[in-house]
Amino acid sequence: MGMRMLDAQVWTPADMKEAWTLREKFHLQSCFIAGGTLLQTQWEKGVPYPPQLISLEKVEGLEGINYKTEGTKHFLQIGAMTKLAACRNHPVIKEKWSLLSTAIQQIAAPAVRNLGTIGGNVANRFGDAIPALLTMDAEVSYFDGNTIITEKLDHWLNTSQNNEVLLTGVILPEYRRSSFAAQFYKKVGRRESFSGSVVTVSGVIGKNDAGVIDFVRLAAGGGDNRPHRLKETEQLLIDQTINPDLLRNAYETIINEFYPISDVFYSDDYRRWIAANIIISELSGWERKG
Ligand SMILES: Cc1cc2nc3c(=O)[nH]c(=O)nc-3n(C[C@H](O)[C@H](O)[C@H](O)COP(=O)(O)OP(=O)(O)OC[C@H]3O[C@@H](n4cnc5c(N)ncnc54)[C@H](O)[C@@H]3O)c2cc1C
Repeated sequence: MGMRMLDAQVWTPADMKEAWTLREKFHLQSCFIAGGTLLQTQWEKGVPYPPQLISLEKVEGLEGINYKTEGTKHFLQIGAMTKLAACRNHPVIKEKWSLLSTAIQQIAAPAVRNLGTIGGNVANRFGDAIPALLTMDAEVSYFDGNTIITEKLDHWLNTSQNNEVLLTGVILPEYRRSSFAAQFYKKVGRRESFSGSVVTVSGVIGKNDAGVIDFVRLAAGGGDNRPHRLKETEQLLIDQTINPDLLRNAYETIINEFYPISDVFYSDDYRRWIAANIIISELSGWERKG
């Protein structure tokens, strides 16, 4: 059913199929709306809103956090319409995937987190939760009109046809922990306004009893920079023990593989240096703590 609001028609489909049918029908004249917090900032900047808004608020099965086991696989399923605040405060997330909680804490102010959803953060592909999710090997699920497909977030972000998806959830696999695991999430920039951070970096790293790095995930993004994994740096670090030469090489590799854009406030080089400095400082601090 539809309701007229401002200059747009707002549709409130009850299920995914209906939401998808509306999107197909109105196509470029429409968009999905979840909490509306990001869309609101865009509209306030003068980006025109489409005449048909498809609200996901009433779509069944898109909200909630469930810990699941399938065979030997344990994972957390977070519905796309789950509010950022609910994700941040969920006891299982705090205990097992605390990096997500830390990341969300640095997104906007509580009032916005009470409205904004995890799906909206990921669907726009620039959200500040994404670097943390990438380092936790998160997957996304989406409805393609017929069925729900699950895919690695890393892959989904890099494929081009994902404009037309209805994101249904985020999945966090339980990751293997090394004896000495560390994680970090750092966002440099203004927190409560959405003018875009200078840089957002995240990492999960582990080493075995012999001090050899046996798990590493690094990601960087922030502002108008689409978050991505730093895979060359990960490759350089895996199976190594931390030493000054390795850290120097890692620094150079980050500088070469993080490709932020410049804007009126900060240059691409500045963002690179910040990202590389944070990561190297986290790695050397972790090594010192042993
Ligand atoms: C004051 C303020 C500060 C903010 N600060 C930050 C910040 O620091 N970091 C940050 O990352 N964000 C920030 N935001 C933006 C926003 O609050 C978050 O990104 C939030 O997670 C967006 O979720 P939403 O449900 O409100 O998305 P919406 O605004 O409803 O939607 C965002 C986009 O995703 C699409 N979409 C939403 N849900 C789905 C779905 N299930 N399937 C497919 N497409 C979908 C919409 O079509 C739209 O393009 C800020 C916003 C405000 C107002």
